[in-house]
Amino acid sequence: MPCELKPRFLVLYGSQKGQAQSIAEGIADEAEERGLFADICCLSEGHKFNLEKESSPVVFVVSTTGDGDPPDTAQKFVKRIKKKTLPRDLYAHLCYAFLALGDTNYADFCKCGKTIDSRLLDLGAKRFYATGHADDGVGLELVLDPWLEGLWEAIREALSKMAAPQPERDGHVRDQRVSSNETPESSATDIKLHLLSLNESESQITKSLTTAASAKTDSLAVLASETGSSVNDLVTVSATDNTGTALKLDSVVSERKSVLTTQSGQTGAPPAVVEASLTRSLPPLSELALNIPALPPPYLDVMLQEATIEEEVGCLSTHICLNSNITSSSYPVPSQINAPVSKETLHEVPISRAVQLTRDDSVKTALLIEMDISSHPMAYQPGDSLDVLCPNRASEVGELLRRLGLEDQKSNRIQLSLQKETMKKTAQIPSYIPENSTLHYLLTWSLEIRTVPKKAFLRSLVECTGDSGEKRRLQELCSKQGSADYNLYVRDHNLGLLDLLTAFPACQPPLSLLIEHLPKLQPRPYSAASSSLRHPGRLHFVFNIIEFPACAGRPVGRRGLCTGWLSDLVDPILVHPGKAQSSSTPALPKVHVCVRQNCSFRLPSDLSKPFIMIGPGTGVAPFIGFLQQREKEREENPEAEFSETWLFFGCRHRDRDFLFREELQGFVASGTLTHLKVSFSRDTPEGTETQTETGPRYVQHNLLSHAKDIVNLLLKENGYLYVCGDAKNMAKDVNDTLIEMVSAELQLDKLDAMKRLAGLREEKRYLQDIWS
Ligand code: FAD
Repeated sequence: MPCELKPRFLVLYGSQKGQAQSIAEGIADEAEERGLFADICCLSEGHKFNLEKESSPVVFVVSTTGDGDPPDTAQKFVKRIKKKTLPRDLYAHLCYAFLALGDTNYADFCKCGKTIDSRLLDLGAKRFYATGHADDGVGLELVLDPWLEGLWEAIREALSKMAAPQPERDGHVRDQRVSSNETPESSATDIKLHLLSLNESESQITKSLTTAASAKTDSLAVLASETGSSVNDLVTVSATDNTGTALKLDSVVSERKSVLTTQSGQTGAPPAVVEASLTRSLPPLSELALNIPALPPPYLDVMLQEATIEEEVGCLSTHICLNSNITSSSYPVPSQINAPVSKETLHEVPISRAVQLTRDDSVKTALLIEMDISSHPMAYQPGDSLDVLCPNRASEVGELLRRLGLEDQKSNRIQLSLQKETMKKTAQIPSYIPENSTLHYLLTWSLEIRTVPKKAFLRSLVECTGDSGEKRRLQELCSKQGSADYNLYVRDHNLGLLDLLTAFPACQPPLSLLIEHLPKLQPRPYSAASSSLRHPGRLHFVFNIIEFPACAGRPVGRRGLCTGWLSDLVDPILVHPGKAQSSSTPALPKVHVCVRQNCSFRLPSDLSKPFIMIGPGTGVAPFIGFLQQREKEREENPEAEFSETWLFFGCRHRDRDFLFREELQGFVASGTLTHLKVSFSRDTPEGTETQTETGPRYVQHNLLSHAKDIVNLLLKENGYLYVCGDAKNMAKDVNDTLIEMVSAELQLDKLDAMKRLAGLREEKRYLQDIWS
């Protein structure tokens, strides 16, 4: 059927790192298979769509980034629809479905999606399908998969409603639109969808279901009791009911049953425990008929062109030239930079100093890196961060080349083209792969080869193995029924493609598949840990070396990509705690970096405003910059009145990982830092034998013991609060503690206390710079 005759809908996406875009593209591609026609546009392409005149259903897929911000590509759109002057019925004709992507580790979960969604409703638009809030913190697919599954029926219903003139209750013929009185909850589709776990609070329930194995039975029981069913009832329901609720529960039950099973021998011997694993499933999963996703249509042709002798010499000399100052020459420097920034803002800078801040017996190793930026126009302020470009590990690139059978062709140039007959509607050559790059360059600098393969990738890998056992297991891992196994054995262990290829030795994917499925290698951001007033021409940053321990599926532990690379790079110049800097002068390693401004995470411009900083571990980094700057300002303005400053720091042990101890004590001595409150989570409090529950183990405990002062400074003296560091636990715990403090000090109920804190956020006086 020609495209024009197929029922049409529009897909709009706002994406920062490409997730929302790839989901939107998946929807557009699948439309084709379902006999529909989807137009697809990025929200930044305002000239390509016109919502004010749109007469087809619209599907939005929008992510949230930073501190609840819209993705760069959605910023203008959000600004436009937020205008107060827009007519209330601007979108009265519009029917839409919304998928918001977010991460519950951050305070404003799906904020951008929620803002657009509610604004569309304000302007008269109607949802034809319940909004999905997919949580990257627990795995997007938990909400995404059932949401996508229900989407098609909802689109068809919306299309037929919009196409067919429908009688009004009073007998008049209605416009070709969904009635404005028809709330999502009132339509059959939406009633069904209401059962799905598409909202935030349920996403939290899902989180608890998927993260705490021991709590699974309890959570299930809770859900069962909430729905008035027994656990077994729910299993039965899941077999016959294809709603997302059933799916979720089904997964949990299947996980519970399949992870550990006992088999009793016929001889009456004690039952032997058989465990499921990455490569092996157990009943019921191993016996189920599977719903597997459609095979993503291939769309790239890859040619490897042998480099001419001149090209090889040229390429080699470029590398020699670029590497001439680099000690760790096992890492070639990118000759064509594949950065998310323009080349003008990217700088290749020498590392002038590297110091290990933690003792050797500390659980985590923190390093400070000092970069010499004196010959680069790189202005920064405390609160900014910098992006560090890092390559994939040479050994992993080598292993991948070997598995692909392309070792001999690593210096060949890659020529990419779109397959003429591809069924992928949104097929594009990835813009981040430089033309004419070599295969080795591609695998080293362009593709995130360690990324956890998505289910669509696993689905494609099924076709790349001739081994029936491998095929079945890969099918299970990407299937609806195998969701729990995917989470448990792939996602939660952070397994990458190489791990899978090792576990499935017969699997032999073509290079084109890797380029189609692996995302762009992202630079890693680090907060500036210095002030250029104190260290002109220098920029410091601090990081923990991430360790991924060995586990099933990863026989040998490994380090984080960037932190492991940096630690190797600075090894020849690293100064260990308590040791003097070596007198030898090894060549200084270099890194490619660019500054990322964070205009809101700044010291208060009014010197008389008090501020409170909460930064355990490496979260203290930006506050070192703040305090260096404040100290300099005090020196330069001896007459000025400076406010109170508080720092809540936390670490495991006073003697092992108290980062910047001397410098912080120096700030206290100079009066720059008025209050330094440190908690040690693994030391016993002074004068006691054991760590008691009452001791201030974490920053939030210390915060609570100064509740009166803190609430007073924040809410009566218009102070500022900054939180930096781990998004997974700390930022949430701190936020909960603040709610408790505000509620207790101001005699407010929890909701009002939350509103007061939300007010602080709005005024940019409660600021977070957190990461996971
Ligand atoms: P990767 O190989 O990318 O692995 C990271 C992944 O491992 C994460 O996605 C997570 O799933 C997992 N992971 C993370 N931590 C652990 C852990 N402890 N154990 C097991 N798994 C883990 N980091 C700093 O150390 N200092 C900073 O000042 C700093 N500032 C940041 C500022 C911003 C704005 C942002 C967004 C992040 C910042 N980070 C900072 C985090 C940093 O960018 C990297 O994510 C981190 O260093 C890991 O990089 P990697 O390449 O070594 O790890």
